Amino acid sequence: MWRCPVHVQLIFRIDEPDTRMALRTKNTATSFPALCSDALVREIVEQILSATPDVPLLLNRLQTELHQPAAAASRILYDVVRQVNSSLFPPVTKLELMLSEGCNLACSYCFEKSALRKRRMSGHIARAAIDLLFDYARDHSSLKITHFGGEPTLNFEVLSEATRYAEQKAAAVGKTVSFHMTSNGVGFTREMISFLADHHIMVLLSIDGLARTHDRFRVDRRGRGTFDLVMETVRNLKVRQPWIGAKMTVMPGAVDDLYDNVVGLYNLGVNQFVIGHATGVKWSVAEIEYLHAQLCRIRQWYEGRKHQHDLRIAEFENEPVKDHGNYFGCQAAQTGISTAANGEISACSKVITLKPDEVIGKLGDVDHGLTHIHSRLEMTGCQTLRANCEAEGIADDFRGGCFACNYEEHKDLFKPNLQEYVFSNLFKAVREGKPFRQGASKGC
Ligand code: SF4
Repeated sequence: MWRCPVHVQLIFRIDEPDTRMALRTKNTATSFPALCSDALVREIVEQILSATPDVPLLLNRLQTELHQPAAAASRILYDVVRQVNSSLFPPVTKLELMLSEGCNLACSYCFEKSALRKRRMSGHIARAAIDLLFDYARDHSSLKITHFGGEPTLNFEVLSEATRYAEQKAAAVGKTVSFHMTSNGVGFTREMISFLADHHIMVLLSIDGLARTHDRFRVDRRGRGTFDLVMETVRNLKVRQPWIGAKMTVMPGAVDDLYDNVVGLYNLGVNQFVIGHATGVKWSVAEIEYLHAQLCRIRQWYEGRKHQHDLRIAEFENEPVKDHGNYFGCQAAQTGISTAANGEISACSKVITLKPDEVIGKLGDVDHGLTHIHSRLEMTGCQTLRANCEAEGIADDFRGGCFACNYEEHKDLFKPNLQEYVFSNLFKAVREGKPFRQGASKGC
């Protein structure tokens, strides 16, 4: 028995038949070869369970000991890593593709601005990421792919190629794939709209409100508001896709208009709202209380319209199961991953864009799979995050929040952002119609 050096609860028994089988399947061309010595098996396992796996070193060892060319060594490592992931984690069923890390807008609050990368994903990387999704999904039958950015429509050629490739692959193995896209809604051509509709790609448009609010923050590179352009896209999309979703980011200075913005956009044809507060900016106690009041008002309006079946606001319906579970973190990296334009993988796109020159919380890459097992264990097990929440005395009613928000505040994925703790309580209070205790005690 060999104790994993990085995870207290993980006991990796490389002498046990099951684990050994997982590491040494002998009967396929891409399996771990029987000729591989126990020392090499141990070395590979130690590396992929370490905090910073040295992938080039492992490839070199595989090439040298097994006399394999680089491509074969890479494939062997991919297969071993996939099997180890299978033995430790649930299937991966959701994939974000960061098709373009650049954007055609310059929104004032954009979390990706600091990334300042102009990279676009190649068709080769997109296909490899989709292959990885199918490999890691195991026998899970329904998968989800989100075309993301930057602005994904800036790389529409690869978006189309990736969609078709995933459709063909799914059909070949009897799985289903649902497609989603998050976009700023600027620059949609008729051809794009037809493709999105023909391939059932659900579009979530970033719309912060009516013109007065939206144009304050969501501007093009010359500082011009984009509301009219986005609404033109809404009208054109609606001809082919009757259900329109909007992702609203609420800035502290725009809370006053939130109710009017939601009702106004609904009247202009928006059916679904994802309402989120701006992160990475400081909110005053008064602004937070006012947000609570506005959300309560929207909830009451929403309750009166739900029966019409043309409106959905997730924040008021989705009682997150995770609030009741005995686990921490947002569960990113558990069943979902995101691929950067260069093929590196982390838990989600927001985490990927935290630093311009490094992928924080890296899980691996499309060529070798999720090699950073230690990182995946930390992001799914969240022992450090739990301990930090306990130290703050908030572990009973907070699961540690968003890794990216934690990093924005503390440069540490696992140190809870206390402002996010307040917002977590706020949204929970609105959802449950209960009083919100942060200076205010008004119920809905
Ligand atoms: S909560 Fe944060 S870290 Fe988790 S998936 Fe969402 S943006 Fe990513």
